[in-house]
Amino acid sequence: MSRAEITTPEVLSEESVVELSLRPQRLAEFIGQARVKESLGIALDAARARREPLDHLLFFGPPGLGKTTLADLIARELGVNLTVTSGPALEKPKDLVTPLTNLREGDILFIDEIHRLRPVIEEFLYPAMEDFHIDIRLSEGPNAQTVQVGLERFTLVGATTRLGMLTAPLRARFGIVHQLGFYPVEELEVIVRRTGEVLRVEMDAEGAGEIARRSRGTPRVANRLLRRVRDYAEVRADGRITRAVAEAALALLDVDHFGLDDMDTRLLRTIIEKFDGGPVGLATIGAAIGEDPGTIEEVYEPFLVQHGFLQRTPRGRVATAHAYRHLGFVPPVGSPEQPGLFPG
Ligand code: ADP
Repeated sequence: MSRAEITTPEVLSEESVVELSLRPQRLAEFIGQARVKESLGIALDAARARREPLDHLLFFGPPGLGKTTLADLIARELGVNLTVTSGPALEKPKDLVTPLTNLREGDILFIDEIHRLRPVIEEFLYPAMEDFHIDIRLSEGPNAQTVQVGLERFTLVGATTRLGMLTAPLRARFGIVHQLGFYPVEELEVIVRRTGEVLRVEMDAEGAGEIARRSRGTPRVANRLLRRVRDYAEVRADGRITRAVAEAALALLDVDHFGLDDMDTRLLRTIIEKFDGGPVGLATIGAAIGEDPGTIEEVYEPFLVQHGFLQRTPRGRVATAHAYRHLGFVPPVGSPEQPGLFPG
């Protein structure tokens, strides 16, 4: 199967190269997200049986949970080509003409960060998604002539970390929508072990468990931590990852027992120390810690909210009693209690 990339070519970082090599090759090897996997399996079987392209499909959820991996697996399962691009990489409708016209029946166009598509591109995509044609303008201006170009029946797979930022008309054009949630520790442990096998790292069950517990529910983080712990094991120990080795390595990386990293801790500490625990607006927090509010909302908050460290209220973000205690503060009277959903 050939694979095309239409994103700007760039030198792949070590992390991206390793990530590619760690991607599961079959849907059955994709760990966790049982409900998503089951309904995808059904949709794939039905499409295969009817010899029809799969419906347009949207994945949403925080980064690193497997959206791109699933798009890749679907293409492999169906034996079709996959073309990869992303919302920010597409500047003009023209950028999509060649990729779209090159698609063959059933091929997949994957658009990552689809909530960041420019409105002109979105509008250009509507007829492509709905009726499999595009309207190409031959000149500029209000009276410009357009020609209609037909497309093969393809499948658009979109991925977004922010479903709320998708426009209603775009969202309505996806026949299948799946949310990916954080992974429980047991599933992350399986992912860590599998990655360990691919990387040929010696590791015991407790070492794998320690890494899994501190991975913020996210396979990408689990794989990254495993690589750093492996470095530590090779340099400071005998190469084998045990609980003690994992603990020492993760302490050096400032990843605490709950998996909170430096930025998570700064965020909570800032709300507690500078804003009396909140409520405080996202933009204000962003300015105080020097991080883009969108990134805080997409990357950091979902985990902190799900694990009961942070509450979103109409008046702003509030640190919970759990967050106070976790960081060694005494919670003030009246601060909200919210036990973590996956304690330990
Ligand atoms: P997203 O597109 O949601 O940001 P990716 O699909 O790029 O996430 O996944 C990030 C990394 O985590 C990849 O290296 C991928 O192989 C790994 N990964 C994600 N989900 C799983 C899973 N369920 N099983 C095994 N590895 C996974």
